[in-house]
Amino acid sequence: MKPTVLEEKPIESEHESDTLNSLDRCDSCGAQAYVSVQLSTGGLLFCGHHYKQSEAKLSTLNPAVVDERYKLAPKSKIISSNQNAF
Ligand SMILES: [Zn+2]
Repeated sequence: MKPTVLEEKPIESEHESDTLNSLDRCDSCGAQAYVSVQLSTGGLLFCGHHYKQSEAKLSTLNPAVVDERYKLAPKSKIISSNQNAF
């Protein structure tokens, strides 16, 4: 079952495989990767933790980043319930 993603993504990446799955692993720790970084020298995969650690350094290289960390926070502001709708 696929949750509907309401996030608006700028369509920047022209890579075919811009969707990470459970087979993608963080290059640092082997956890499931949620961020893919494409550098001119090649691609790197990061879990949310390690991407955060490397983010500042990586951003200076202006890579193409596929950030799917929204998957890590399933209870973001998706639905505001109407229980007080009277
Ligand atoms: Zn990691």
